[in-house]
Amino acid sequence: MSESMHFIDLHAQYSRLQSEIDASIHEVLSHGKYIMGPEVAALEAQLCRYVGVKHCITCANGTDALMMLFMAYGIAAGDAVFCPDVTFFASVESAYLLGATPVLCDIAPDTYNISIKSLENQIEAVIKEGKLTPRAVVAVDLFGNPADYDALNEICERYGMILIEDAAQSFGSEYKNKKAGSFGHSAITSFFPSKPLGCYGDGGAIFTNHDDLAERCRSIRIHGKGPRGKYDNVRVGLNSRLDTLQAAILLVKLQAFEAYELKERHAVAERYHTAFAGHYTLPFISPDCSSAWALYVLLASDEGSRNRVTDSLQAKQIPYMIYYPNPMHKLPVFDTLAHYTETFPVATDFCQRTISLPMHPYLDTAQQDVIINAVLAG
Ligand SMILES: *Cc1c(COP(=O)(O)O)cnc(C)c1O
Repeated sequence: MSESMHFIDLHAQYSRLQSEIDASIHEVLSHGKYIMGPEVAALEAQLCRYVGVKHCITCANGTDALMMLFMAYGIAAGDAVFCPDVTFFASVESAYLLGATPVLCDIAPDTYNISIKSLENQIEAVIKEGKLTPRAVVAVDLFGNPADYDALNEICERYGMILIEDAAQSFGSEYKNKKAGSFGHSAITSFFPSKPLGCYGDGGAIFTNHDDLAERCRSIRIHGKGPRGKYDNVRVGLNSRLDTLQAAILLVKLQAFEAYELKERHAVAERYHTAFAGHYTLPFISPDCSSAWALYVLLASDEGSRNRVTDSLQAKQIPYMIYYPNPMHKLPVFDTLAHYTETFPVATDFCQRTISLPMHPYLDTAQQDVIINAVLAG
């Protein structure tokens, strides 16, 4: 059984949805509008409805979505963009690529999201130094767990900064009964195959309620096109469209996600909670939040204990992952980034103790028992 176990089982999902997905793909093959075909607009409308925002701009991937937002805001050299020290590289990469300066912040010990205290300290330190303008915060909903948006909104308002939600891991999550992707001035998500809502390749989207920003992003998505089309360029943009085929696949997958997949993710997480309570530090989801469980992450008591668990899983050929082995401030590419007042004790400790277990809506109880027993034996 464990030989066929997957960290995220996309094959089981395809088996269940095969006839609808195949039909949706064939529809695209027959109409032939591979770029910006009708499925793209249909998906954007469905995503607006689901997330509860006015505008959705799909694009080639989640990293481009962040890039397009930064371009639309005119974020560039001289700007400080505050990001959590524990995240996927892309959260920090786009700001850097545009010449802005990422300023890393430590994470909170309970939610593992950006620490509000560290953020305030880092903003003050940047202001005191006087070289950079505090411009934006990229709040990541790590592993699906929404960041602290009330506190983040208050800080961004106080300092006149833009709040951007990186919801690449939190599609389907909620904060105070609102869906992830609807917080901040704008948000992004990713449809990378292993994300809560994934396609069969790369894909991403921007969400916002702001008409001007949406218009700029739509222009940037297609080479900075103007109101009269793509040969009427009004700015320099990108080529970053979501393929019609991917939109067709996502239309089917979104239905399954709403109908049962998200519920199954919650059920899998609940079974893990019950099994591991008292043995490992469970993921903490604040009572006013719910997580889409992009990943199920345990903390062992120390690195040695974590290694015993990974050895035990490996011996039974059970897949596991370490998200993330390194905090951003330790990456060679960021060697020259100023740390200001931060020493990142929580992020550093987290990366030594974290372990991610198989998590997907098609994990059955028998498979889950095998995983649980292997973890508890470690
Ligand atoms: C996956 C991910 C991204 C980037 O998405 P891609 O579609 O892979 O470019 C950005 N931020 C976070 C937190 C992610 O997990």
